[in-house]
Amino acid sequence: MSSINIKSPEVQIREVRLGSITGYEGSAGELVKCARTGKLQDSTRSFSQCMGCSSGNAFCQLSMIKDAAIINHAPVGCSGDFFSFNFVYRVGQMERDLPTAMGRYFNTNIEEKDTIFGATAKLRETVREVYERVRPNAIFITTSCASAIIGDDVEFVANDMTEELGIPVVGCYCEGFKSKIWTTGFDSAYHSIVRKIVKPPRKKTNKVNIINFWGSRIFDDILKPLGYEANYVVPFSTVADLEYISEAAATIQICPTLGTYIGAALEKVYGVPEIKAPPAYGIPGTDAWLGELGRVLNREAEIEEYIKKEHARVLPLLEEYRKKLQGKTAYLTAGAAHGHALIALLRELGFQVQGAAIFHHDPIYDNDDPTSDALAHDVNTYGDVHNYNVCNKQAYELVNILNRVRPDIMIARHGGMTLWGAKLGVPTLLIGDEQFGFGYQGVLNYAERILETLDNKEFVTNLAKHSSMPYTKWWLEQDPFSFLGGNVDVEVY
Ligand code: SF4
Repeated sequence: MSSINIKSPEVQIREVRLGSITGYEGSAGELVKCARTGKLQDSTRSFSQCMGCSSGNAFCQLSMIKDAAIINHAPVGCSGDFFSFNFVYRVGQMERDLPTAMGRYFNTNIEEKDTIFGATAKLRETVREVYERVRPNAIFITTSCASAIIGDDVEFVANDMTEELGIPVVGCYCEGFKSKIWTTGFDSAYHSIVRKIVKPPRKKTNKVNIINFWGSRIFDDILKPLGYEANYVVPFSTVADLEYISEAAATIQICPTLGTYIGAALEKVYGVPEIKAPPAYGIPGTDAWLGELGRVLNREAEIEEYIKKEHARVLPLLEEYRKKLQGKTAYLTAGAAHGHALIALLRELGFQVQGAAIFHHDPIYDNDDPTSDALAHDVNTYGDVHNYNVCNKQAYELVNILNRVRPDIMIARHGGMTLWGAKLGVPTLLIGDEQFGFGYQGVLNYAERILETLDNKEFVTNLAKHSSMPYTKWWLEQDPFSFLGGNVDVEVY
């Protein structure tokens, strides 16, 4: 199992821990083969557009703990993402009928003089001020490039303030410059929760941890008949809820890109078994995932019955959708594991997947179990995907490729990427709720939404007529991978 050490304040970045990469051009099958044989190489780019930042991904999870406060120890510009997560938080509250509350997010406003004299005094003052203002049950301090470069001892301040205030004050080390893979920020957030919030179990419960974003509560329907209760983690949890996720009967991840670290850490440190089958997208994938769930929860007979009933309900409907979608082509862009999920859904519906731009690749997850490899599952179940590009949101590559392949539909996972399809007149679908495509019903859900999107092609055709493109004709005629090259061997320590 990869290095999980909750005694250390920091989690190792994914490049070092898992050997993850951000640059690759080739086929999915070749990528899986390289990953399995230890021959994976990262391909660097000589030109790069903007990317994400680990700090934002750490904040994405910590910002929705209902009774915690977050202090971003950073120049104020690093807090640009407060607005978007507060928005998601408020929307989620409405969907869950929770009382309306603003996120409790603060920034220490590191300025030029602080980079010379240090900013720990400012941090200490901010922690006291935040405690006085909002009386949270825990305070998380997310770090930044600036706080790390000047060498502020955030851990010392956090430990000191924990003693002074009597609540956990937890350092979360997620400086953007440390890793090219911004999902390292998820690991930093979970590491800070596992090492400072989660307590040893007092007993075993019938709860099952669902590591997810803020999607719909589909796991209630799966787990309730089995006698288990879904415990959605981390968004909309309280600090007290998180303290005893160590008592759960199992951990389910909606997406291993999100939950690889916490799933493995809970298993390694507290013995909570992780469901290691790839998440349930597509029919064979759902069969395998349910089989694993039944095995871990000791409900094999009930699961077998459920699979039979669901096959009888879903397969005839699926056949109808396949007929309607026959011969259609698709291209997709998404984060790693959700991208693999989308490939399974599209192939299940009979699409020819012309290619994919996937934000990074983890050759292995923290549980070190190759059965969790969702891309390998896709390749083995549905065949290879050519034009599989690992591309950390480099829009210039995406636009160039899309302009060549002109698929019938593009599926995107991130809002900032959808406009490129629309500008080129390619119908583009974005579904924010990753639970929407999960399980048997998920395949049907996607089929319906894809048909709706294809029916409305005129919208993007008109949009394209009136849009301008920042990329020149020259660039669109170049090899999309002109700036990708220079392999770097990946070593996992
Ligand atoms: S990359 Fe560094 S400077 Fe930029 S937002 Fe992230 S932490 Fe702040």
